[in-house]
Order: sequence, then structure tokens, then C-alpha cells
Amino acid sequence: MIAPDLQCHNLTKHYGDTTAVDNVSFDVPAGSFFSILGPSGCGKTTIMRMIAGFQEPSSGDIQIKGKSVLNVAPNKRPVNMVFQHLALFPMMNVADNIGYGLRRRKMAKPLINRKVEEALERIGLPGVGRRQVSELSGGQKQRIAIARCMVLEPDVLLLDEPLGALDLKLREQMKVELKTLQAAFDTTFLYITHDQSEALVMSDAIAVMNAGHFEQVGSAQDLYHNPQTAFVAGFVGESNKWLGSVTQRDGHYIDIDTPSMTVRAMASGDTWNKGAKAQVFVRPEAIQISREVSALRDYDNILTGKIEQILFNGAASRLLVRSEKGSDIIEVNMPQAGTTSNWSQGDIAHLGWSKDQGVAFIESAK
Ligand code: ATP
Repeated sequence: MIAPDLQCHNLTKHYGDTTAVDNVSFDVPAGSFFSILGPSGCGKTTIMRMIAGFQEPSSGDIQIKGKSVLNVAPNKRPVNMVFQHLALFPMMNVADNIGYGLRRRKMAKPLINRKVEEALERIGLPGVGRRQVSELSGGQKQRIAIARCMVLEPDVLLLDEPLGALDLKLREQMKVELKTLQAAFDTTFLYITHDQSEALVMSDAIAVMNAGHFEQVGSAQDLYHNPQTAFVAGFVGESNKWLGSVTQRDGHYIDIDTPSMTVRAMASGDTWNKGAKAQVFVRPEAIQISREVSALRDYDNILTGKIEQILFNGAASRLLVRSEKGSDIIEVNMPQAGTTSNWSQGDIAHLGWSKDQGVAFIESAK
């Protein structure tokens, strides 16, 4: 059996009393795009720095292609790292930047030239080798930074928030390009980010990290549709959240009493108690909105409220509805019928959704 390109076993890092990384294990198969997604300070960079060899784990092992790299110096590890701030050499032209690592390896000049040309071809910038770095756009610089790592043919490319310094429009474009580049070079990517849309769009697998540990590892669809913890449900994608207490359970379904209504939803996990605190999550796109409550009679959950705000954003427009009871704000996708939505601020609206569209996590047994 071929070993995965990268394996971390029970990786832990303490800084004094802080446990930055807490017993994390994962495998990244060859040629795949693996992301670690989590809020600031959760330990992502620490994992990356341990893999690159800039930091020693307190315990655990890191293997690349089945071999431990713990005693291997950073410059001898078969990994390269792309940072948020690209650090291209401003005094060198593009070709010299890309060939830098190969020159340090004392590769013959004609071979370097060929590899640089090939890399430029692959990143869609043939013939720009003689340009100065200052003559490139932000996105082009980013591609050059990746090409500079890729010519070294690392087993694993580590990318630490590489799009963080780019403006929004370019970031959107680079998301698609990075995925294409990864496929073109057929290299294993480990990508860290706090931006869920970057992780969702590009990754084959994503680990959601929180306070030093992995909450869940799965595909984007998995994390979005089947979150296993309240943290993942709240962090990945957008959701409405209700807090309440459990009143009863019926097989997979559970009823949660909240100030605005009793919500029926899928229960995550088997353990529950009457009166236990729970969080319920429902996505804005799962909720139907209607002026007629009778139109929603097939739904398990129905709530009445008033349109408080209309957030116009083209196809992604949202309505904010304040519940009549409880005064909660519920976010609902704006129905897209014709050219305009016929909802106005202050309108009375009825909301309905199925019990299968909500997921409840029981916080603590009472
Ligand atoms: P960000 O997205 O903000 O970069 P991160 O998820 O990458 O955050 P880390 O930089 O890995 O998080 O930090 C994890 C925890 O370890 C934080 O609480 C941080 O304060 C702490 N930490 C990081 N480096 C050190 C250090 N050299 N000494 C002491 N504590 C550290």
C-alpha cells in the first residue's frame, strides 16, 4: 500500500501553559487538496510550522511518504511553504525568482531555464521571464510565488493564508486558479485559512479546527450538510441559531423550546435529557417564506414575524424577519421570482421549514 504523502499522528504542541495543538491526527493522500479551516488562534499556523520544521512538536509524529521527518532539518524536508506575504525578490526578474531554489541546488543552467519555462507555461504566463516583479499584477505575483515552489518538486506544498493580502475580487479569481494549478502540478497541497469560502471551494477534504483540536474532517458537502458538532454547524456556511431547552425526543427528532417557538429538528447524537440546553441550526435557504400561513401547512416548523430588513445582493439577497414571539431575527433567502421580490419592510411574513432541515446539538445534560 502506498503511504499518504503527509501523515500527522497525535501531534501536540505546548507553549508554556498554552496547548496550541492538542493531539491532532490526519492523513493527506497524494495529489489531494487538504485545508485546515479555523478561527484566528486555533493552532493552524503551529501545525504548518511543525510540518515545515520551524517548530518542534511537544509530542507526536509527522511522516512524509511514510518516513518520519522529525529529525530532518527544515531545508532538507520535501516540503515548501507559500506565505501570505509572498517575499518574491524585487531585484530579480521573474525567471530568476522562479529559478532561485534550483540555482541553490546547483542545477545546470540549461536545465534551470527549461524548468522555469515549463513552470511559466503551466501557470499560464509564458514569456514573462524577463519582466521585473514590479511589472506584474497581484494575481500574477501569486502565481509566480507558487511556480517558484513548484519547480522544486516538493512532495507537499504548504500554503499559509496565501490569498489573505489580495483584494476581494482577485481572491475570488485566485480560488479557482489555485485549484487549477494544483491539478496541473499534481502536487499535494496543505492549505490553512480562516476563510470558509476558500476552503469550501478548493478542497478535497477540510479539517475544521477549534481551540487546538480538529472538530470534524470531511468534504465541503459533508461539513455543510452533516455537521457533527455545534461549532462546525455555526462556523461552516451561514445558519440561523436558536438556543433553548429539550422538551421531548421522538426517534431522530427532538423538540427544543425557544423564546420564539418550539423547534423540531434532527438530533445530533443519542444522549439527551428533558430540560437539557440545546442549540438548533437552520440554513437561510432551507426556510420558505409566505404571506399565507396555509401555504406552509406541510412544514413541521412555522413561525410568524415581520420583515425587518431587506439585504439586496443579487441572487444572494436575504430577508431579515423578526419573530412575533421572542423577538429573534431570522435570516431567509429572498425568493427570486421575476425581476424583483415583492416583500417590503414591515410586511407580515410566515416562515416554514421541515424538521429534516434543522439540526440540534445538546449542550449539556441537566
Ligand atoms: P491565525 O489565524 O491568527 O494565524 P492560528 O490558528 O494560526 O491563528 P497559531 O498561530 O497556531 O494560531 O496559535 C495558536 C495558539 O498558540 C495561540 O493561542 C497563540 O497565541 C499561541 N502561540 C503561537 N505561537 C506562540 C509562541 N511562539 N509562543 C507562545 N504562544 C504561541
